[in-house]
Amino acid sequence: MRPARVQLAGAWKPLAHALYKLLYRSKHLSNRALAVLFAGFMVVLLFNSWLAYHSAQVQANANDRIAHTELVLDDLEAIANNLDNAETGQRGYILTGITSYLEPYQSSRANISGRLDALSSDLGNDTSQRTSLAQVNLLVNEKYGEMQQTIDLRRNGQTPQAEQIVLGGSGQQLMDQIRAVLATMRSREETLLHGEERAARASLTELSITFAFAAVVDLALLVIIGWLVYRTLHERERLLAREREAVQMRDQFLSIASHELKTPLTALLTNAQLLERRTEREGQASDASRRSVTTIVRQTHRMRMLIDAMLDISRIASGQLDVERERVDLAALARGVVGEVAASADHHAIAYDGPATPVDVVGDRMRLEEVLLNLLHNAVKYSPEGGAVMLELRNDDRDIYVMVRDKGIGIPAEDVPRLFERFYRATNAQTSRIDGMGIGLSVVRDVVALHGGEVTVESMEGQGTTFTIRMPLAPAVPDEIGAGKPEVASEVRPAVREQAS
Ligand code: ADP
Repeated sequence: MRPARVQLAGAWKPLAHALYKLLYRSKHLSNRALAVLFAGFMVVLLFNSWLAYHSAQVQANANDRIAHTELVLDDLEAIANNLDNAETGQRGYILTGITSYLEPYQSSRANISGRLDALSSDLGNDTSQRTSLAQVNLLVNEKYGEMQQTIDLRRNGQTPQAEQIVLGGSGQQLMDQIRAVLATMRSREETLLHGEERAARASLTELSITFAFAAVVDLALLVIIGWLVYRTLHERERLLAREREAVQMRDQFLSIASHELKTPLTALLTNAQLLERRTEREGQASDASRRSVTTIVRQTHRMRMLIDAMLDISRIASGQLDVERERVDLAALARGVVGEVAASADHHAIAYDGPATPVDVVGDRMRLEEVLLNLLHNAVKYSPEGGAVMLELRNDDRDIYVMVRDKGIGIPAEDVPRLFERFYRATNAQTSRIDGMGIGLSVVRDVVALHGGEVTVESMEGQGTTFTIRMPLAPAVPDEIGAGKPEVASEVRPAVREQAS
């Protein structure tokens, strides 16, 4: 059989190994692991507090019991003193007949029953002591009876008879018996007292050791947790810095790649458009060739828009996106954009619903056009079955509202909160296999924000989506004051509807 010490060492091994792994290997603890460690620390702390409380209780109880035993010892001593005083008084009176000698006897007689009652209550349930007390009671009564008898005889002039009783020794015998019982009781109390004191000292030592051990464990845990928290925070900071660096590199890459791609792509697009026009003009190409050229133009155009969006993103990320600050008639801009998108969307009825008169904002015409194009292209793209797409424009005294509505695939509720995040795409857009990169909306949000506005979305999956842009109106131009606010044309404008169909 292996010796006990070796077995114990074997049991500690996995614990030591786990501690080593925790302290040196795991660089980054999850919030849950930290919470568990902290909870463990709290348990030890609570245990320690309980120990402190318990120790105080144990000490208080021991002190109570010791104080009680001391009271009993006092009672026993007082009873013995009372009897001595009574006997001295009795003898003095019998010898001299002077009544003042009787004073100690009388005061002891008055006190003794109170002392015996006090002893009875201080003894509690100790049966052996209670039996002795009953004996003391009997003997004390007998002793006082004997003393009273001799005093009465002396008072009646029968001095020889009184002396006879005293000299007879019966009183002395009673006194000896009482002393013997009191001595037994005292010795028992003293034994109890010593026992209590010993037990109190032992429990104090035991509690001090346990308390010190728990305090050491607590301190060790505190140091471990502090160390782990420090390392975890340090590690998180390092990861965050790395993440920031990676994002910076990605943005840099995006910016460089987009710049580099833009030049050849522009050349490609220009030449493809030239080719398309030439094919149209010369009319020699087959239908299939014409379709191919159109596809090349459309896809190249799309690619350029994507690259423009990526460039915008990198400019926004580096805070370099400049916006012009000129007066822009948003109503006219919206009508133009609706017309442009309607021209290229065969299966959608794209309409404008808004004022026919100018509604001005202060901003960048090109960027605002990009925003509206983006929302309209999305409305078309995410309504693969075709259907109505509406750009609605309203305004009040302060703001202008542009709503782009479609009846397309909609957006699942759980995706809505993250929709404007860069590169985020709703799950149904991906399952429907609709192409996209999740860039456009983040640009829309940032550009609108640069114009002092905001963009929001309302959607029901499978039923359609409405994006709403709110932007501040341009301040009224002095010579235009009084020209009246733009009127809202509630019906869809025929010119645009024609383009849409
Ligand atoms: P992209 O369309 O290239 O993926 P966007 O940033 O324009 O990127 O849009 C982000 C996501 O928002 C899209 O992937 C799509 O899931 C969702 N989305 C945008 N517009 C609509 C819309 N009109 N209807 C349904 N979903 C839309």
